[in-house]
Amino acid sequence: MTGKRLLDDCFLHDRDRLRHHEALEILRSRLSAVAKSETVPLEACLERVLAEDVMAPRNVPLADNSAVDGYAFRHADFDEAGGFFRLEQRIAAGHATDATLAPWGAARIFTGAVMPPGADTVAMQEDCEPHDQDGQKFVIVPQGLKKGANCRLAGEDVAEGTTILSAGQRLRPQDIAAIASTGQAEVSVYRKLNVALVSTGDELRRPGNLITVGDVYDSNHFLLKGLCDTLALEVTDLGILKDDPGLVEATLTKAAKDHDVILTTGGASRGEEDHMLTALDRLGTRHMWQLAIKPGRPMMFGTIGDCVFLGLPGNPVAAMVCFLLYARPVMSVLGGGAFLEPQAFKVPAAFEVAKKKPDRREFYRASLRQGADGTPAAHKFARDGSGLITGLREADGLVEIPEDVTAVKRGDLVTFLPFSGFGIR
Ligand code: AMP
Ligand code: MG
Repeated sequence: MTGKRLLDDCFLHDRDRLRHHEALEILRSRLSAVAKSETVPLEACLERVLAEDVMAPRNVPLADNSAVDGYAFRHADFDEAGGFFRLEQRIAAGHATDATLAPWGAARIFTGAVMPPGADTVAMQEDCEPHDQDGQKFVIVPQGLKKGANCRLAGEDVAEGTTILSAGQRLRPQDIAAIASTGQAEVSVYRKLNVALVSTGDELRRPGNLITVGDVYDSNHFLLKGLCDTLALEVTDLGILKDDPGLVEATLTKAAKDHDVILTTGGASRGEEDHMLTALDRLGTRHMWQLAIKPGRPMMFGTIGDCVFLGLPGNPVAAMVCFLLYARPVMSVLGGGAFLEPQAFKVPAAFEVAKKKPDRREFYRASLRQGADGTPAAHKFARDGSGLITGLREADGLVEIPEDVTAVKRGDLVTFLPFSGFGIR
């Protein structure tokens, strides 16, 4: 990185600012997990990051069992016509038997019930014909079933001794289900990162209070709190800071002592009423500021002591875009997880951009919609203003236009980053 890049210079051109990929490299290279581990019950581990691998202490399923309601029998007993079996057992789920089937014997069996010893195949009840003869019950099973049909084998889902999840993985509902299926009630996860959330601006008020002309409700607090919740973070609300350098410095100094991360919104540019940069420079180290992107140019990353400082812009669209692109991977890594990359798909553009500035990367709010021929295309939100929350709500993702592209024509393939890949909708 050149010294020039970190200059506080209002006349800096986009080509001299840090590029998106350089910013990601800085973040990636300067971070490692800060959180220690703790053991938590499965009920409390959604979106938490595993601190240790999870092994399967037993097979899932534990024993061979039936996948359907029907009749279990020994496939070798079939002749060309099928099987005429004497019914000698009835086995419901949760009621295993150790009585071996006699030759040409069958068991009435229900879904999830353990196969009787000797049986290897199950016929569905719909395909079978029960038959009574001389007070004895029989069942006629038609030919055509393969050996092993409708039978689930022990360990076919998870084999005993295998690693089912690795340290660093973030737990989804289906992962937790897999751990539960092996009988383990707790897991070792990284403790939640402590994040201090700060809004800044003299104009801001919390909803529920009266406002007058010039005031703005603090919507970013709720935006960022919701985004933090997707990563299972421990968020402390430090409220709204006035644009007062002394107050900003005092608050950041204190917050840095007992938080892993300070996440601020607003005051990140170089206006006379923007104090985050000066505060960061006085209290800690600036690692990154001013990116060649739109929206989100004033995005700031630094450290105050052991605390990571992430200064997001105040405009809601810029705040959300910067959270998703930079704050999300940063906090994931600090919390023991991976540097989360967005999902990206190439789709045709259903919009045009006549002239885009070179040297900067732009992110548009967009939604993916199916055209008449069934092909999806990216529709750009019509209005560009980075204060418009409406666009964030109508979008279901972002379109990413790289630095060297200066125009987009309808039908051009563009990169679409779905919100679902960021853990939101
Ligand atoms: P700033 O980055 O402080 O210059 O703010 C840029 C714009 O975003 C201004 O119009 C602010 O009023 C607005 N803004 C800043 N913080 C918030 C917030 N927490 N919620 C909603 N809008 C905000
Ligand atoms: Mg401000």
